[in-house]
Amino acid sequence: MADFEIPELTEKRVVPKLVPGAMSHSAPHVADPELQDPLGYPGELVDNWEQVAIDKLGELKGKYRGLQVFLDACVRCGVCTDKCHFYLGTADPKNMPVGRQELLRSVYRRYYTLAGKWFPRLVGARDMTQEVLDEWYNYFHQCTECRRCSVFCPFGIDTAEFAMAGREILNSVGKGQKYANEVIGKALTIGNNLGLSGRAIADTLESLEEDVEEESGVKVRFPIDEKGAEVLLVVPSADFFAEPHVDGLIGYGKVLHQAGISWTFSSYAAEGGNFGLFIGSYNNTRELSRRVRKAALDLGVKRIVFGECGHAWRVAYSSLNTLAGPFDFLDPRYPVPQHICEVTYDLMKRGVLKFDKSQNDHMVLTFHDSCNVARASRLGDMPGGQFTIPREIIKATCNHFVEMSPDTLYDATFCCGAGGGLLTDELMEVRVKGAMPRMQAVKQVADNHGVTHMANMCAICKSQFTKIFPYYGFGKDMIVSVHQLVSSAIILDKQD
Ligand code: SF4
Ligand code: SF4
Repeated sequence: MADFEIPELTEKRVVPKLVPGAMSHSAPHVADPELQDPLGYPGELVDNWEQVAIDKLGELKGKYRGLQVFLDACVRCGVCTDKCHFYLGTADPKNMPVGRQELLRSVYRRYYTLAGKWFPRLVGARDMTQEVLDEWYNYFHQCTECRRCSVFCPFGIDTAEFAMAGREILNSVGKGQKYANEVIGKALTIGNNLGLSGRAIADTLESLEEDVEEESGVKVRFPIDEKGAEVLLVVPSADFFAEPHVDGLIGYGKVLHQAGISWTFSSYAAEGGNFGLFIGSYNNTRELSRRVRKAALDLGVKRIVFGECGHAWRVAYSSLNTLAGPFDFLDPRYPVPQHICEVTYDLMKRGVLKFDKSQNDHMVLTFHDSCNVARASRLGDMPGGQFTIPREIIKATCNHFVEMSPDTLYDATFCCGAGGGLLTDELMEVRVKGAMPRMQAVKQVADNHGVTHMANMCAICKSQFTKIFPYYGFGKDMIVSVHQLVSSAIILDKQD
């Protein structure tokens, strides 16, 4: 099945012996000039790229003060070394968070510290060379920007910031990643990551309405571009057709229908995902965010609700206001934006939604905390809501729920292995190996507690796991959306 070795799922986590260069061959496809241009980057390696890269590093560390602190603060304590799923799965020391940081820090030292300028060898400073550039390209695309390492670092050093800065520099010199940049280009020009036309989305939604009516006997609407609706629902475009994403989307529709809340999608902003974050591009992240604001204004909605997508929620929760605000035209009684899990949870608590849990009795469930929700956002108005709210929804809709090993939960969750722009076929080896710690935890609950399904609330996690589970001997049907469980259990009022 694979032309690489699949890691063994041992009973306990084993820190691997170092295998230097184990993943030095892994690199994503490079973006063609026509993919670079719409994003504002040079199409190919610029003539004086060494100086451009050095200058860009200087600009970024000046602009993002956190990066400057992270470049200076590491004391080489080693705590982070075994915290990255990519190191655990590949044994490559450059996949240790501190090793990944060193790729950038060594160049920073050379050009921006006195010791590095005068005694480069003594302090491990490196010139900006083609070899360094290639290493950046390969290893900054073996980081899902999941931030697990930062949870354990005593100084909170966030390796994701290094990967994002590294990718922004790579793009600035003309060496961008094909997959991420192609996706951003489609979202900027067409309005969603998959390049789906408004007509295609409308057709899909029409068939969904028919399917749901046939299954439930209730006419649940899935409207698009309807002016005057109360809610603009912004979902990852995979929700429109991928499995199990679309089952979650059906759940969102049923919740809003049952609550009597009018809502609509927008064909102009038919995308919750924002890959601008992944390449560390403020400009592109902002442009994509602005589409959401424009769609909300054009449609005259009162609220914006995001669907199940980890990094979409991270951008929306952390910076939608500063990127694309003000949102003073929305109803001030609701947070801007809201997450669909917050909406469902609130309705559930107020007794607006009722569930028949037995509809999910064929499943013994566990839940995977998605990195960007767990470590970069919150849900609801209480600390830790991003952990409790999805679990409360699952427990309200299912009778059988089992947690995985505690050291893989909440803010210590292990990444699915494909966030941060790694969800592309040429990176399958790193994706499979990086998923190993999560697979180990899944195997434990499957073996010991009969777990049959794993619920997720992130589009990338769902896509990655449905692809990766079979490599480890599990069925791809084990992956379900949180709102898929809601969809199955919700009791809809029958029409007269
Ligand atoms: S951010 Fe995640 S993927 Fe990147 S080094 Fe840290 S733990 Fe590894
Ligand atoms: S845990 Fe933090 S301070 Fe320690 S080696 Fe890792 S990045 Fe450096």
